[in-house]
Amino acid sequence: IARVHGLTKRFGERAVLSDVDLEIGRGEFVALLGRSGSGKSTLLRILAGLDTAIEGEARVDGAVSVAFQQPRLLPWRRVWRNVVLGLPDRGRDRALAERALSEVRLADHADAWPRTLSGGEAQRVSLARALVREPDLLLLDEPFGALDALTRLAMHRLVEDLWTEHRPGVLLVTHDVDEALLLADRVLVLGEGRIIAEHVLDHPRPRAVSDHIDVRARVLA
Ligand code: ATP
Ligand code: MG
Repeated sequence: IARVHGLTKRFGERAVLSDVDLEIGRGEFVALLGRSGSGKSTLLRILAGLDTAIEGEARVDGAVSVAFQQPRLLPWRRVWRNVVLGLPDRGRDRALAERALSEVRLADHADAWPRTLSGGEAQRVSLARALVREPDLLLLDEPFGALDALTRLAMHRLVEDLWTEHRPGVLLVTHDVDEALLLADRVLVLGEGRIIAEHVLDHPRPRAVSDHIDVRARVLA
């Protein structure tokens, strides 16, 4: 669903990404690790089509949703309107927003203003906004960073359920190695401007993943 070939991205003189090759198959769940500043968010922005000043190729076939590292919510729109912003189906959008918000456990914040949300709540609104579009490719930039262990677990379950149901391609940026190993089919590490390590997992999804999530849920409860 996504193909990156010979991608180089420079900021001024400095190449943050140099000659990166990457493919994400239809319905494949890929996790991307790498030190802070290694270019993960830059790569995501390029895949999302938000940065076109590149050398090489970065192509996505299908609709893309992004949940950014810093949730970008419009402050002058209530939470539920942020979730369905830009969706064509005007008549149903309140219902769609409410369903997506209840999936991220924020049903009671539908009418709140973004500035009243905590960091983790804003992240979850951003996640709801990405999910409600049912994209072919889902780009998630450290979407669970600001969440407590239990809420993070609920989000793992949500993303796993969503993946099982709709099978989008997923590129999940995370600093949490366990999270990457749990959720992904393939784990990539970005460093020195390129993919420096790749690890393919062969857990029999989705069973193994949901079993693991269940066990953690019992431990944390
Ligand atoms: P983190 O894990 O901290 O989120 P990251 O891997 O997502 O890091 P990026 O945000 O992609 O890192 O940034 C990679 C490098 O590119 C950093 O050194 C950053 O300072 C630089 N950079 C990113 N955006 C710009 C920009 N608009 N102008 C100049 N430099 C930039
Ligand atoms: Mg980043």
